[in-house]
Amino acid sequence: MTQFNPIEVRKDFPIFSRSFNGKPLCYLDSTATTQKPQSVIDALTSYYSQSNANIHRGLYALAEESTNLYEGARARVARFINAARPEEIVFTRNATESINLVAHAWGRQNLKEGDEILISAMEHHANFVPWYQLSKEKNVVIKVAPLTADYNVDLAAFKKLLSPRTKLVAVTAMSNVLGTIVPVEEIIAMARTVGAKVLIDAAQSVPHFKTDVQAMGADWIAFSAHKMLGPTGIGVLWGRYDILDAMDPFMGGGEMISIVSVEKTTWAHVPQKFEAGTPNIADAVAFVPALDYLDKLGMDEIRAHEKELLAY
Ligand code: PLP
Repeated sequence: MTQFNPIEVRKDFPIFSRSFNGKPLCYLDSTATTQKPQSVIDALTSYYSQSNANIHRGLYALAEESTNLYEGARARVARFINAARPEEIVFTRNATESINLVAHAWGRQNLKEGDEILISAMEHHANFVPWYQLSKEKNVVIKVAPLTADYNVDLAAFKKLLSPRTKLVAVTAMSNVLGTIVPVEEIIAMARTVGAKVLIDAAQSVPHFKTDVQAMGADWIAFSAHKMLGPTGIGVLWGRYDILDAMDPFMGGGEMISIVSVEKTTWAHVPQKFEAGTPNIADAVAFVPALDYLDKLGMDEIRAHEKELLAY
C-alpha cells in the first residue's frame, strides 16, 4: 500500500474542484500533460508579481534575484535527476526541442553519409522525426529495432542491428503508448560496444520513477516539465558536460555568445551556449515547486501507487 492518500492529493490541484455534467473531473490524460498543483500556479504568479526582470544581464537587485531564481531552478533539476553539475541542465521548451537540439547541434556536426542511427519501433514522433530530417540532410541511415510479442524492445534484434556504423542510439525509456518500461541500461551497454552515443527519451520515465543520470550512463536525456506537474513551455536536455562542451550551438542570438564581431564570434560556456535569447524564466522557476511536490510524495511512492492502479 502506498503511504500517500490520493483523495488528499487531489485537493492540492485546483482544477479538480471543477465538474463536468454534474460529475467531478476524472482526468486520465497525464501522459499527455499533467494537472498542476496550487504551489506551481502560485510560483508563476509570484514570479511575475514580485521577481520579474531579465536574467544574466542586469546589474540591479531585481535582475540578480531573477537570475538566482532561474539558476536555482537549474540546480534543482540537476538534483532531481542526480546530474553531476547544474551546467549539465539545458532549459528548452519541451522534450521535443531537447531532441531537436541534439539532432542539430551534435548530429549535423558529427554524422556523415552512411552513418547509422538506431531507434526502436515504439518511439514517439519526437524521437523519430528529428532523426528522419537529419537522415535526409546528411544521407544517414535510420534502423528500427522491432518489438517483442509483449511489446518491449527486442534486445536480440537490437544487438544484430548494431554495427561499427551505428553512431547514435536513440530510444525511449518508457513508451507513452504501451506503458512499457524499456531496459535502457542494457541498451546503453550494447551501444557502448560499438562506440555509439546514446540519447534517452525520458519524457515519460522521469515523471514516473526515480531517475539517476549518472547511474544510467547515457549521453543525453530529454524530458518536459509539463508531464511532471510543472508548467508548459519548459523542457530539459541533460547532457554529459564534456559532450555538451564539444557540441556546436543550436540557435544563435543573445545570451549564447562570448565575444561578437564580424570577423569572429565565439560562444558562451555550457549551458548558456544552448539557450539563445531570453529564456522561459517564469516557467523554469515554477518548475521547482513541481519537483518539490514529487519529492514530497516520493518517487518510489508514486511508482508503488501506479503499480497498485495497474493491478486494479
Ligand atoms: N517522448 C515521449 C515518450 C512522449 O510521450 C512525448 C509526449 O507525449 C514526447 C516525447 C514529447 O514531449 P513534448 O510534447 O513535451 O515535447
